[in-house]
Amino acid sequence: MAVAPAPPSGDPVLTPGGAPGGDEGRPPGFPRRHGVLHCRTHDLEELAERFGTPLYVYDGDGIRERVQAFQAAFRELDFLLAYSVKANGNLAVLNRIGALGGGADIVSLGELHRALQAGIPAERIVFAGVGKTVEEMEGALRAGILAFHVESEGELDSLERVAAEEGRPAPVGIRVNPDILVNTPHEYTRTGHAASKFGVAVEDAIRLYRRAHASPHLEVRGVDVHIGSQILDVEPYLEALDAVLAMVDRLASEGIGMGYLDLGGGFGVAYGGEEGLPLQELAREVVGRLRGRGLRLLVEPGRSVVGEAGVLLTRVLHTKVAGGKTFVITDGGMTELLRPSHYGGWHFITPVRTREGAPVGPVDVVGPVCESGDFLALNRELPLPLSGDLLAVATAGAYGFSMASNYNARRRPAEVLVEGDAVHLVRHRETLDDLIRGEEIPPPATL
Ligand SMILES: *Cc1c(COP(=O)(O)O)cnc(C)c1O
Repeated sequence: MAVAPAPPSGDPVLTPGGAPGGDEGRPPGFPRRHGVLHCRTHDLEELAERFGTPLYVYDGDGIRERVQAFQAAFRELDFLLAYSVKANGNLAVLNRIGALGGGADIVSLGELHRALQAGIPAERIVFAGVGKTVEEMEGALRAGILAFHVESEGELDSLERVAAEEGRPAPVGIRVNPDILVNTPHEYTRTGHAASKFGVAVEDAIRLYRRAHASPHLEVRGVDVHIGSQILDVEPYLEALDAVLAMVDRLASEGIGMGYLDLGGGFGVAYGGEEGLPLQELAREVVGRLRGRGLRLLVEPGRSVVGEAGVLLTRVLHTKVAGGKTFVITDGGMTELLRPSHYGGWHFITPVRTREGAPVGPVDVVGPVCESGDFLALNRELPLPLSGDLLAVATAGAYGFSMASNYNARRRPAEVLVEGDAVHLVRHRETLDDLIRGEEIPPPATL
């Protein structure tokens, strides 16, 4: 299977006058015009000037095209794209996906709130996660979501109790763990093997379905399977699908019917050089297996909808040579984009404006946070930028802002959505007062 290119290693001596940026990994939607990177027709230097840095810029047309590509690929079926809110929960992004007919895959009450506030109808929302609380179950049940994706027997028990107390049956799908070990780039993103905390083994799922079917407080709606993230091959999906269909047939023979099958998310994108998951090929195979079954198909993509449609713009503060290494110190780091330090995520980085004749060499692009693990790239071949230059970190639309934090009392960045000629500030940069909101200093202690 294709993997992201290994970061180049080598001695950290800069060679003079190299290639101006090497744009092979630049995602579509971010063309270079007259040496300056754009989001569609919008000059990224101008956006950085106007909104400051670090700054997330999203290509709204790109997001729309991705949603529509999914819808077109599966048009033969009754199809719902339940976008995975955790990838990027900005209200404007959710609103646009909802307006295209999309729904949401949520993992918390907070994400339910976001999805509803953004205008996504409750009946298009599914609720995943191994640790749903009673409060979350009550909230989602009252909202009228499409289904709870139940991940354990204990959860089914609680949900049944909550539904009995609320006096309305809870819609249920069991998240099945088909025991497939997928070769994702990092073990943290594999979820479909037996030793993962996610989902329920097929045999146990059958038992849970019988229980749910027999309970007056539970209503079987469908089945869910999500095997991991950043998957580039079609085969693991088909293996999972076949395993789930065999279970669906077995349950059907007992009179337990399903309304939908949710194939999960995890469709891989191009971070640098590799090809993303071939959606058309997957769709052909999936449609072939589901045709005529009367099952609605759901998918829960996150990364593949928004990942390539976002960049993080960050400004170079200083460069520094130490211990034989060249450091490029930027105003954005792990607090804005955690993926590199959290799970070795590799992001293509390119100067927003090419600097002809700049020496090229391996550099570490590091943030200002007081942690050695605070980096955006290590040993990366880049034209050496000067202080004040802008860098674009590509494929940052997913798990970028949504994993941003206030560590080091840093204000989370602004987010901008570009749509055609329009540029929308869809989240203001946090203020100093935002950082202390909700805190209280008690009266002096009496000794
Ligand atoms: C995270 C997650 C997804 C989305 O994964 P992507 O790799 O962003 O497509 C879908 N379903 C569930 C249950 C998840 O936890």
